[in-house]
Amino acid sequence: MYRTHNCGELRIKHVGETVTLAGWVQRTRKMGGMTFVDLRDRYGITQLAFNEAVNADLCAAANKLGREYVIQVKGKVAERYAKNDKMPTGDIEIITETLTVLNAADTPPFTIEENTDGGDDLRMKYRYLDLRRSNVRANLELRHKFCLAVRHFLDAEGFLEIETPVLVGSTPEGARDFIVPSRMNPGQFYALPQSPQTLKQLLMVAGMDRYFQIVKCFRDEDLRADRQPEFTQIDCEMYFEQQDDIIKVFEAMTKHLFKEIRGIDLGEQPFLRMSWHEAMRRFGSDKPDMRFGMEFVELMDTLQGKSDFAVFNEAAYIGGICAKGCASYTRKQIDELTAFVKSQQVGAKGLVYARVMEDGSVKSSVDKFYTQDILQDLKAKMEAAPGDLILIISGPDAMKARKQLCELRLEMGTRLGLRDKNKFALLWVVDFPMFEWSEEEGRLMAMHHPFTSPKPCDIAKLDTDPASVLADAYDMVCNGVEVGGGSIRIHDAVLQAKIFKVLGFTPEKAQEQFGFLMNAFRYGAPPHGGLAYGLDRFVSLFAGLDSIRDCIAFPKNNSGRDVMLDAPSAVDQAQLNELRLLIKPAE
Ligand code: ASP
Repeated sequence: MYRTHNCGELRIKHVGETVTLAGWVQRTRKMGGMTFVDLRDRYGITQLAFNEAVNADLCAAANKLGREYVIQVKGKVAERYAKNDKMPTGDIEIITETLTVLNAADTPPFTIEENTDGGDDLRMKYRYLDLRRSNVRANLELRHKFCLAVRHFLDAEGFLEIETPVLVGSTPEGARDFIVPSRMNPGQFYALPQSPQTLKQLLMVAGMDRYFQIVKCFRDEDLRADRQPEFTQIDCEMYFEQQDDIIKVFEAMTKHLFKEIRGIDLGEQPFLRMSWHEAMRRFGSDKPDMRFGMEFVELMDTLQGKSDFAVFNEAAYIGGICAKGCASYTRKQIDELTAFVKSQQVGAKGLVYARVMEDGSVKSSVDKFYTQDILQDLKAKMEAAPGDLILIISGPDAMKARKQLCELRLEMGTRLGLRDKNKFALLWVVDFPMFEWSEEEGRLMAMHHPFTSPKPCDIAKLDTDPASVLADAYDMVCNGVEVGGGSIRIHDAVLQAKIFKVLGFTPEKAQEQFGFLMNAFRYGAPPHGGLAYGLDRFVSLFAGLDSIRDCIAFPKNNSGRDVMLDAPSAVDQAQLNELRLLIKPAE
């Protein structure tokens, strides 16, 4: 028997018992004739005491222990003189009687304590050591609880967890696929699923109402803090339900998760719903952070054509936000904001600001262009009060300018401490446009995916004005993060073919790529819909993490590499031969 108890379990009531513990040496402290060892396992830390006066050999052995040695000890639980109320086991220590080294350890490349000294890459390379830290481990425990709660909830609602294949066919819409060569079919490739979208729809055609799956998805995209090439979805689909019914089920699931995992009661009220157009107009984003206001005010009527200021006169959009109490911002602070909006991340040409002074007058960076009367109109329009700072962004492309102002709003929210990680603001963004124009491709693209149903009342416009068609699509947004998204699907082969046509597919190409789905629709497809949550993002929000990596056991780095496994890597020539693959030399 390695242990009678784990390292997080002993309390004052155990005093006097003889116990056996096993774990890792977190650290050793020598204080006069006493040596103390912190022994760690998944459950916590227990202090071991060695007294030189009582057993000199044992104490000498303890002094030789290195960090991360795996040891087993036997001893008696005793009340501590100096209690540590920060540790659950802080009232007791073990008066050690025997010590066995189960395995020695090299000195770890960084210290394994709550805040480690290792840089990111080092921690990734030795992720198995990083995972020994209690805060990283806590994130995985939370993820586990989260998944359990999801499964319990969905099971109780009649959902079935059904697995779908990981080796599927490549599809042209959406992100780039990861592809896998087939040895048995030389020259042919599988793709890893970007999501089980078409498969879950086929399950609906198969009659499997209420499907769900906690499933890995793969997208070969450039990475950001909230993206990984492989990530996990809670993927769901149901039939004979309309948008409102689907929203109701998943709103209930979300409330259940908040209650179960965070102990937060989101109340009886349904979540706010906002149309995509309204979200773009008020916040410049389809995932507005509703923890704070600072809504956009459109200033075209107030500022355009009112002076010689060409920047505003030529703009397609002029919008402002009002930062309460920030009129006292220093030159340096304003310069920082200007540099922020001009950064590559944001991409604005510049920032115009106006301070509302204590006497009500307005002092702006464009004073030489605008009379005080017009600046007073600006103040009124912005509903700004003395002490407020008005920040204005404009540009020739209205959508881009809105997005830039959105970045500025978020930055100001952060600076003003309005984005509290322990506050949660949830909403549904609905009525998305069906398509968006892609400059790169020179054609319309599906905003969600090509299987999303247009709103029935808009179907007639598919021929005449497809860009104005709205979709029965919905996203769940929490604190400015899209945590889930879905739609009512097309279940009619003719309508599906029409959407592919709008997306620029020839009938032959559409049949070649999506024939399996359109053909299935000819055999009695039920009206259906669903959604998928991004599990990693949702768990990160719950845990208050900045990066989804921190809730993934073995994540990839920013270049999509697993630095621990050193993957991706080259393969043997023999493997390439077998697959009949030739690697083209770099150009
Ligand atoms: N499959 C979609 C996605 O991955 C979600 C959905 O529409 O259910 O975004």
